[in-house]
Amino acid sequence: MPFTPFHFGPGLALKGVAAPMFSWSAFVAAQVLIDCEPLYYLVHQEYPVHRFFHSFLGATAGGLVAAILCLVIVRAAGISFPSLVAPLMGSTSTARGEVSSLGILLGGLAGGLSHPFLDGIMHPDVRPFMPWSDHNPFLGLIGVVPLHLACVAAALLGAVCVTLWRFRSARRAG
Ligand SMILES: [Zn+2]
Repeated sequence: MPFTPFHFGPGLALKGVAAPMFSWSAFVAAQVLIDCEPLYYLVHQEYPVHRFFHSFLGATAGGLVAAILCLVIVRAAGISFPSLVAPLMGSTSTARGEVSSLGILLGGLAGGLSHPFLDGIMHPDVRPFMPWSDHNPFLGLIGVVPLHLACVAAALLGAVCVTLWRFRSARRAG
C-alpha cells in the first residue's frame, strides 16, 4: 500500500468533484477491505503480500463487495432507524452521495480501481493485470515521497471542495 489512509486522499478529491453521486465511505471501505490482503500475508510472513486483490480484477471485486456491504448497512440502518437515515436522503448533496445506491456503487468501484494503480507505483510485487500479465507498468512512475504528497494534496483539495458543496447546500436551505 501507500499506507492505507493515504488512499483516502484521492477518494476525497473524487468526493469533492462529484459529491452528490459519490460515497467516500464506500471508497474508504474498499481500501480497508483490499488491504486486508497484504495484512494477512504479512502476519503469516508469506510473500508476495500483494496478490489477487491488488490486481484490477481482484480490486474491482473487492470494491464491489465493499459497496454491497455498505448498501446492506445503509439499508439496515434505514429500516432500523428511519428517523436518522431518511432525512439524509433529502439533506445536503454531500450526505445524499454517501447513502444513495449509485453513490455507494461508484465509491466502491472507484476505490477498487484506483487501488492497484496507486499501490503499483510503489510496490514491485503488485501485478495490476494478473491473471493475464505479470507486468506492472506503473512501478516507479513517480517517487514514493511525491506519491504520498500527491495523496495528501488530493485530500486537502477534496476537503476544500466538500466544504464548498456544504456551503452551497446550506445557502440553498437558508
Ligand atoms: Zn494495498
